Amino acid sequence: MAYSEETYIRAPIVVVLGHVDAGKTTLLDKIRGTAVAKREPGTMTQHIGASFLPWKALEEISGPLLERIRVEIKIPGFLVIDTPGHEAFSNLRSRGGSIADIAILVVDVQKGLEPQTFESIEILRSKRVPFVVAVNKIDKIPGWRSNPNRPFIESIKSQDEAVALKLEELLSYIIEQFKSIGFRADRYDRIKDFTKIVALVPVSALTGEGLPDLLLVLAGLSQRFLIKRLVARVAPARGVVLELKEEIGLGTTATVIVYDGVLRKGDLTVVGGLEKPVVTRIRLLLMPKPLDEMRSPEDRFLEVERVYAAAGVKIVADGLEASVPGAPLVVLSREEELNKILRDVQEEIQTTRFQRDIA
Ligand code: GDP
Repeated sequence: MAYSEETYIRAPIVVVLGHVDAGKTTLLDKIRGTAVAKREPGTMTQHIGASFLPWKALEEISGPLLERIRVEIKIPGFLVIDTPGHEAFSNLRSRGGSIADIAILVVDVQKGLEPQTFESIEILRSKRVPFVVAVNKIDKIPGWRSNPNRPFIESIKSQDEAVALKLEELLSYIIEQFKSIGFRADRYDRIKDFTKIVALVPVSALTGEGLPDLLLVLAGLSQRFLIKRLVARVAPARGVVLELKEEIGLGTTATVIVYDGVLRKGDLTVVGGLEKPVVTRIRLLLMPKPLDEMRSPEDRFLEVERVYAAAGVKIVADGLEASVPGAPLVVLSREEELNKILRDVQEEIQTTRFQRDIA
């Protein structure tokens, strides 16, 4: 396949952060479940290290809300990183920022902002990653009537006045906490200018209530403020190593999040290494095999010829044991570029290590 001048809007890369026990894993499971249940023919919803939530699935779950909000959606969906928390986020670094386009910050409605929430906000602020707050576990408010998978703005109408008031009280506390660190925050449906005010979306990761609102707010923000970042090229790929893993029979493999271009089997790449960059050819590109096609637990992967950004893929190539999570991956389009790319990749690794040392 030839490269082309063509560009397209790729899925934003989404990370989930927050304090321990706030519900990050539960929320990710719910999102993944939605993606898999609404799988469209021809779309791969399970990636390696991430899940793809196609827009069609979002449209279905946000139906009534979408009609009210009337946003014209240009993004193809979201690529949600499967591992929550700081570590995954810090491995998604890129020069001067992060390859995560947007974050969901999960806060327990009854606990408000906790120490790791403040830490997450600092990290997001320093990397300039916009975020939406999922104010989670609303189903635990005494007297809450659950409306599974319904939009929050509908569910709130079926609550008793005392319960609605209790939620307001809890939200006010969170808004005050945000104020104390210099952020204006408000319930998302009361915000006019999303560039200035942090959106709070009440949800229950357990019942799925509020998930339509959360995903629509994410989509709206991505489209309005990130579209330029989301322009991907049909060109040599760029990615970041999220994780290294030994696989029986394959050696050290890398989970790579591709954020631009096309990664192909056989591509010559430069991958950052602890000591020096690794120049290696991609032997195999692996994606998860759909559950219904798996014949045995070992039969987990599907070989693919290429992946387009945004994607999470496992690469098999020689020399990956010398790489490190957080390392950049760059495909060489012409051999003469090698020296420049080697220099760039090593520089990036060095700044990364420097940042780690001072962290
Ligand atoms: P993490 O540490 O942030 O990943 O939190 P988990 O997803 O592991 O959740 C911590 C606990 O809170 C688990 O027992 C979850 O079942 C529970 N939990 C998470 N979300 C909700 C929710 O929306 N409602 C209720 N009632 N429990 C929840």
